[in-house]
Amino acid sequence: MKVAVYPGSFDPITLGHLDIIRRASVMFDKLIVVVMKNSAKTSLFSPDERVKMIEDCVGDLDNITVDSYDGLLIDYCKKEQIHIVLRGLRAITDFEYELQIAQTNRELSHNNVDTVFLTTNLIYSYLSSSSVKEIAGYDGDVSGMVTENVLERLREKYGHNSKGN
Ligand code: ADP
Repeated sequence: MKVAVYPGSFDPITLGHLDIIRRASVMFDKLIVVVMKNSAKTSLFSPDERVKMIEDCVGDLDNITVDSYDGLLIDYCKKEQIHIVLRGLRAITDFEYELQIAQTNRELSHNNVDTVFLTTNLIYSYLSSSSVKEIAGYDGDVSGMVTENVLERLREKYGHNSKGN
């Protein structure tokens, strides 16, 4: 069985992430989306909130599961016996960072973990969780960037009652 893990902060999950998940769901027998807790970034949503939001978004895809992990990705892969990591590439600026992480994970795992990349759907190439948070924080319109359930959670977090605009 071909199993891959899609790790990230997902703070929160965007339509760009979801597009990658949907496309990967037909390439792998099983895809585990993992909310990584050990990011250097300070997060808006707790890992449990992020897991719940992703679960709500992928409920219609039965080969996707969602998990969270506090530790090194290669240790998660070892624990779950997974050899494929999936990452998304938006632009050339993502490439250097992603290449370094992919090489590091391959090295640390003694060549047991490889990373595959999916290039973003161009309509989401500008999209990042950080910009969603920044725009939503100023009560801007992020309705074309996230799903309705995430929009609702953002409204709760920021205490805005409007539709995000
Ligand atoms: P991290 O904080 O680990 O970079 P993110 O949650 O920001 O995690 O992103 C997880 C993965 O999804 C990364 O591989 C990232 O490049 C990819 N990604 C983020 N936004 C998009 C997007 N708009 N389109 C495609 N891939 C994306």
